[in-house]
Parts: sequence; C-alpha cells; structure tokens
Amino acid sequence: DPHTMTRPIQALIHSAALQHNYQLTRQLAPASKTFAVVKANAYGHGLQRAAQALYNADGFGILEFDRAVALRDWGYAQPILLLEGVFSQAELIAAAQHDFSVAIHQPMHLQWLENAKLARPLNIFLKLNTGMNRLGFPAAQAREIAARLQRCANVASVTVMQHFATADEPEKGIAKQMASFNAATQGLDLPQSLANSAATFAWPETHRQWNRPGIVLYGSSPFAQRSAHDLGLRAAMTLQSELIAIQQLQPGDQVGYGATFTADRAMRIGVVACGYADGYPRVAPTGTPLVVDGVATRLVGRVSMDMLTVDLTAVPDAHIGSKVELWGQHQPIDAVATAAGTLGYELMCAVTTRVPFVDA
Ligand code: PLP
Repeated sequence: DPHTMTRPIQALIHSAALQHNYQLTRQLAPASKTFAVVKANAYGHGLQRAAQALYNADGFGILEFDRAVALRDWGYAQPILLLEGVFSQAELIAAAQHDFSVAIHQPMHLQWLENAKLARPLNIFLKLNTGMNRLGFPAAQAREIAARLQRCANVASVTVMQHFATADEPEKGIAKQMASFNAATQGLDLPQSLANSAATFAWPETHRQWNRPGIVLYGSSPFAQRSAHDLGLRAAMTLQSELIAIQQLQPGDQVGYGATFTADRAMRIGVVACGYADGYPRVAPTGTPLVVDGVATRLVGRVSMDMLTVDLTAVPDAHIGSKVELWGQHQPIDAVATAAGTLGYELMCAVTTRVPFVDA
C-alpha cells in the first residue's frame, strides 16, 4: 500500500519494557500506589500504546484533558489524576463527569469547586508549593485550605501533594522541601503524594499513598550520575533507521553543512535516514554515540533535516540497508542526550509525527 510506504525510520515501542519498568518502580515502593505519568503523549511514546502496556497501573497521571478523556473512552477505569488541574470551571464539571482526580493549586480553583454543580464529588489533590515556586498554594496555607475542601460538598477526598525540584541531585536533595511540607502538614491526617521518579528511586522516605513516576517508566534515568541500566530499567523506545548511502572520504575531505568534520585519513561515512525533522537533536555534535549493525560508533558532521552521517571505521561490513539504532535498547538515550546537552525527557518527546510508531 503506497500510503504506508515511508523512509526506513521507525520508533519501536517495547511494551514489555514499559511493564518491567512499572513493576520495578512499584516494587521499590510496596506500600504505595503508583500513578504512571503518561502526560505529553506518554513522554512521546504514544498514549494508547503506553496505556495498553500499563493497563494494570494503579492509576494514570496526565495533564491534557482531552487525552484523559481518551483514556476513559478506551475503557480505563482506574484513577486518572489531572496533574496540573483544570483551566476553566467547565473543565472541572467535565472532570467530575469522567471521574478524574484533580490537582488544585490556586484560589480560583477553590472558587470553581465551591460554586460548581457536579455530577459527583471529586477526589482533590491539594498541591502545595514547598519551594519549587512553579505551581501550588503557599505550603503554610495547607491546613486552612484542607479544612475548606473538607467542608465542600463537591469534594469526595483530599490528598496533599507537592513536586520536587532537585530529587535527582544527591547534593541538593529534598531536605528543604521536605521540611516545608512536613511543617505545613503536621497534624493533617490526609493521604499524600510526593515522589516523582527520582524520589521513588533515591528517597524512600518520600513514598506515600501515591507516587508519581514518569521518566523511569520509559527507561531513562533521572540521575546524571546513575545510568538507566544501573537502575535496572529497560528502554521503552528504539529509534531505528538504516544507512541509505555510503561515501568514501580521502584525508582532507569534509562532511555535511558547514563542513564541520574533516577526515584525517581515508574513511567510510554512512548516511542515515534520520534528521532533525524526525526529532533527532540538531545540536548533537561529532562524537555523539549510536549503533550501526550492533557496533558502537559515532555521529560525524552536522545533523541535517532528513539525514545524519556516521563514522563507519568500526563497522567495515556496513552497507546500504545496515540497521542503525539512534537510541534504544543498545544505545542509551541518556548518552545521546548528554552529548546533545539535554535530557532523555526532551529527546523522547521530540520524535515527530512523520516517524512511524510500531510495536517492537
Ligand atoms: N508529578 C508531577 C506533578 C509532574 O509534573 C511530573 C513531571 O514532570 C511527574 C510527577 C513525573 O516526573 P518524572 O518524569 O521526573 O518522574
């Protein structure tokens, strides 16, 4: 079918890896329930595929309202938490219709909640600002707002939540935010939700009724100093392509836009059908790792819109059609991200719609 003919690039999604990573994360916090965070199209993996793999998750954390509705349409009956809350009272009313749990983080949300006529009372996640200074009520108001919520007929339950800014950095850690949270919630006998991926793995004292890991489910490490492999995680996405051309360079020959790479010896260069229009980072420099026919090698020259170029010195048998793994089970996405000066999070989310997503 000509409509499905594409360049030889694909994002393979590994359901078994998603399940493994979820179970691992779940086992680290046996007394907690776990929201699998599937916002941003499941961190770029495709919401429907990821949700299918994680169908037995305790709950889903998401922030796009329409995608949360899609989860219900597909039959997911477990708790779904709107991590960033709602953006209008109409959304709050619809949230009750779909039985979503809702984070609230500012006074307007309280007013919407108190004045709405809802299909059913909501499970509310009271988000406190404990130092990240992004979303959340001032932590010191926790008791007062919790009391107000508990008086409200539209509220079925209140869980207190906060989000860590530096749980991934051992030196900065969580002490300041924990002190703020503990002081604010002392004497409040309510369920809590504190931990993202980094806290789930590094700070067991943050495990509560609900944890909210995201990045680790997809097989990327939140820590600069600990690899996904060391954490026991498996890559949930393989971005793969093929060599579509080979060039023989002589010493002094250059490669690509800007002529940023010059051969210092005779060498073969492979041209890969993957560029920044597929979501591969244009800023990835010469030396960024990738795998050709199972052999570790490096990108050379500049990434262009539809292609990038690789050093084939270590892969003498490489030929047109050779398999290239840009990231995935043999090429950690975090190493690519580090070379490009970013995070696995950003690379996963950036794969573009012209790349076919397929089951591994
Ligand atoms: N909880 C909230 C409120 C978030 O915004 C996010 C994502 O940023 C997460 C949990 C998951 O974070 P991570 O992917 O670092 O585990």
